[in-house]
Amino acid sequence: MINVTKTFLPDQEKYLQYVREIWERGYLTNNGPLLQELEVQLKDYLGVEYLYFCGNGTIVLQIAIKALEIEGEVITTPFSYCATSNAILWEHCTPVFVDIDAQTFNINPHLIEASITPATTAILATHVYGNPCDVEEIEKIAKKHNLKVIYDAAHAFGVIYKNRSLLSYGDISTCSFHATKVFHTIEGGALISNHPELDKKLHLLRAFGHQGDESYHFAGINGKNSEFHAAMGLCNLPHVPEIIAARKDIFNDYDSLLNWNILEKPVMNKDMEYNYAYYPVVFPNEKIMKNVMEALRLEDIIPRRYFYPSLNTLTFMPRQIACPVSEDISERVLCLPLFVGLPHSDIERISAIINGHLLP
Ligand SMILES: *Cc1c(COP(=O)(O)O)cnc(C)c1O
Repeated sequence: MINVTKTFLPDQEKYLQYVREIWERGYLTNNGPLLQELEVQLKDYLGVEYLYFCGNGTIVLQIAIKALEIEGEVITTPFSYCATSNAILWEHCTPVFVDIDAQTFNINPHLIEASITPATTAILATHVYGNPCDVEEIEKIAKKHNLKVIYDAAHAFGVIYKNRSLLSYGDISTCSFHATKVFHTIEGGALISNHPELDKKLHLLRAFGHQGDESYHFAGINGKNSEFHAAMGLCNLPHVPEIIAARKDIFNDYDSLLNWNILEKPVMNKDMEYNYAYYPVVFPNEKIMKNVMEALRLEDIIPRRYFYPSLNTLTFMPRQIACPVSEDISERVLCLPLFVGLPHSDIERISAIINGHLLP
């Protein structure tokens, strides 16, 4: 079977070396030495000053909302994974969906201001597939209306935008290191902030809000991660450049093999170095997309409807807001298999099946 993704696994012996170290120390979690080492290496690799390795890419969204004291209405994108809007709901805020740009699939900055009300306190946008949002325009709007900005940068590990890590934008950016992402720690995530004054707060929020046994500051959460997860990160991080290079080759293969007279894909930002996180293709309509999905499934090839459904259509959202562009794209998009080790012959086979099922 060929799945949409296959987790990169490092040299087993190297991982076991770390595991033996953990056994010897008997120190398994709570800001341990491997976790601290991973944070140092991640800051160095990304070129960011404040980074906190946490349990996953969802809890970091919640911690970010908490840390910035966001309440009321949060402007957000309907074209993301449900973790983005769920985090807003879990923090007792109201997601206000603003439609996406039909070219980039990121939140359309020109529609944001019309959705701002006196209750709006923040913008939470996703860099979809690692393609940078219009961060300049979003920052301008945020300044003008005194809003906080959080980026869900779960897809953006390793992306450089205008000579800086894309994770360094916004008041806080969050990342996911889940096993399906470009860089992973099995489960994991990170908070990246630009605010020295948030440093202590983020540390505390991640670990129940107290220091030692006597100093209790506020209601934090358990957002910690373990030495075993940090060890996986330490094994994987040195491989990131080769992982991105391998993904780029697959990307280029699909680019040259698929029928672009009929298919479409998002327009990528010109000012970035990309991480080749996903390979989305947009079909002319949902019926053709489903025909292709079925044809691939018969060959044991499993693409992913990502993102689907458009989050604004979920029945448990407190406000039903129409987002025609996002609803349209989400019904027609598939992410194709993309992972280190996917053979060229399989890319040819997948492309041939797709090209062969494009007519109604
Ligand atoms: C993967 C992902 C998340 C959630 O990350 P987890 O580590 O699985 O909690 C959040 N947002 C987006 C856009 C994602 O792709």
